[in-house]
Amino acid sequence: MEADFSGIKAAVFDLDGTVNYGDKIIPGAKETIDFLRSKGIRILFATNNSGKTRQFLTDKLHRLGIECDVEDVYNSGYVAVRLVEEKGLRNTYVVGSNSFKEELSKVTNIVDEDHADTLVVGIDTRFDYERMTAALRAALRSKTIIFCNEDVSYIGEGERIFPGAGAMTGFITNCSGRRPDHIVGKPNTPMFDLISRNTGIPCSEMVMIGDSYRSDVGFARNAGAKCILIGEERDDVVCVPTVRDIQGLMWTH
Ligand SMILES: [Mg+2]
Repeated sequence: MEADFSGIKAAVFDLDGTVNYGDKIIPGAKETIDFLRSKGIRILFATNNSGKTRQFLTDKLHRLGIECDVEDVYNSGYVAVRLVEEKGLRNTYVVGSNSFKEELSKVTNIVDEDHADTLVVGIDTRFDYERMTAALRAALRSKTIIFCNEDVSYIGEGERIFPGAGAMTGFITNCSGRRPDHIVGKPNTPMFDLISRNTGIPCSEMVMIGDSYRSDVGFARNAGAKCILIGEERDDVVCVPTVRDIQGLMWTH
């Protein structure tokens, strides 16, 4: 597909599989980010990872050699916290990491499954039968259900596959028969809307760069942003073999 990136003010990078695999940077990612910055493009990061805080992800990017401020890093957990705060949701049962619970505890009361009015679901790497039971009970009585995302898997450490938050959300929708009221992560638009609101840049003047057709391309399309897909050939989207190839693609003249 023909590429036209005139008028682009910001590039939003996915993390897993685009900038890094676990604790390893993907060759060319830093150079591409530096190159785009030298052209006056603002760089932002958007990941569905809800297991870590923005600060943790920022520190990790610093360790990988990429400069960024915490305000430039968005994850589905952060968007979920902002939504709970905005809607004034109370009595929340959380499926997720300890750091996610801690962030949520700043804006809502964290309660057990028998007192939940709100259920928020992110990735929980310690999800077991006991937690499944509690999550099911919370889902059946909650007025509002929020999912961070429904990604069934992601490529992480050692370029290997891991189950995503979709392992938890799939269980909840199957067992409770309930669908969420909000899904804040990619490919849904709340994360892009928040980025646009915070930066003052319209989505139409941003390009999403990622390695997932469903998650990243869908995200850009739903929000009205441009998009570049890495590592996959598709007829209906601008594709490049590696993150390094973006430099030539966006500045051919
Ligand atoms: Mg990815």
